[in-house]
Amino acid sequence: MPLLEFDVIKQYFSKITRTVNSSDIPLAIGDDAAIVSLPDNKELVICTDTLNEGVHFPLGTSAYDIAYKALMVNLSDIAAMGAVPRWFTLNVSLPQLDEAWLDGFSNGLAELAAHYHLDLIGGDTTRGPLSITITLAGHINNNNALTRASAKIGDKVYLSGCTGEAAYGLACLEAFTLLPVTEYFISRLNRPTARVELGLSLLGIANACIDISDGLLADVSHIAQASGCGIQLYLESIPLPDINDVEQARDYALSGGDDYELVFTVEEKNQLALNKLISDSDLNITCIGEVVEQLGVRVLGLNNQIINTAKSGYQHFSE
Ligand code: ADP
Ligand code: MG
Repeated sequence: MPLLEFDVIKQYFSKITRTVNSSDIPLAIGDDAAIVSLPDNKELVICTDTLNEGVHFPLGTSAYDIAYKALMVNLSDIAAMGAVPRWFTLNVSLPQLDEAWLDGFSNGLAELAAHYHLDLIGGDTTRGPLSITITLAGHINNNNALTRASAKIGDKVYLSGCTGEAAYGLACLEAFTLLPVTEYFISRLNRPTARVELGLSLLGIANACIDISDGLLADVSHIAQASGCGIQLYLESIPLPDINDVEQARDYALSGGDDYELVFTVEEKNQLALNKLISDSDLNITCIGEVVEQLGVRVLGLNNQIINTAKSGYQHFSE
């Protein structure tokens, strides 16, 4: 018997509702809409992201990795707000109902959902070119979210981990350079890790925060623009992907997208708290720059000369 839409929902997606009767989900998958209840004194934080085959993941990416990434990119947006992720919906457009594919896909989703204590509460299943849209909602104490717009002049700018690794992974895949040394970079592309815990621990410490999806320069400039100030980055301080060509490593670090690290700004009075967070954290957290009055983003080299950075981040619809 060929699978039908409702079999797919029942067999593959309903299981991702971990706790249907959990008190914050009066109604989950199966009705016209889901109902969730928000804890007292919390605001709802909502984000959504679409992944299209050939645009957001290369053809040939495993179903497990597609699911993993589709949920992780949303977790990264919630992380950048400093919020607790909780409920998600899943819209899948599939060229056909392939059981092996659905198995891999739903396993990837189920494992990540279990890890982060998320419930799938609804969605839509349609036929069409492969495309996945996840909408993830979470909560945060009223008026507490970390936005892009609250950087202050004098704040130091920090980065978690290293950028450019996923973009280098993509280049390795495209060049068929599938060597043990490139495995790490490819896993950074296919299995990114959202910095959810870091986002939560930055509450009360960071002023502004953003996750890096389009590239370090591009996303840092979003903070500068939203906050009405400038940002200068110190090239020598920026962590580089571990590849032989330093010039190339710098290009990747400044412009490569898809790493899902966090960039955030911290003012002097919170420096001690941040130092403690850094020493308690498993992540490398590096000071890479400063918020300044002069608008725009500049990269400074040794002796503070301005480095020309021709490339910026990834933009859809650009030629
Ligand atoms: P409707 O016709 O009211 O839009 P659907 O037939 O699309 O309802 O879906 C039936 C139920 O299954 C709904 O509760 C919907 O949220 C859920 N659902 C459909 N597709 C998915 C999916 N991919 N993941 C999770 N839930 C889904
Ligand atoms: Mg529907």
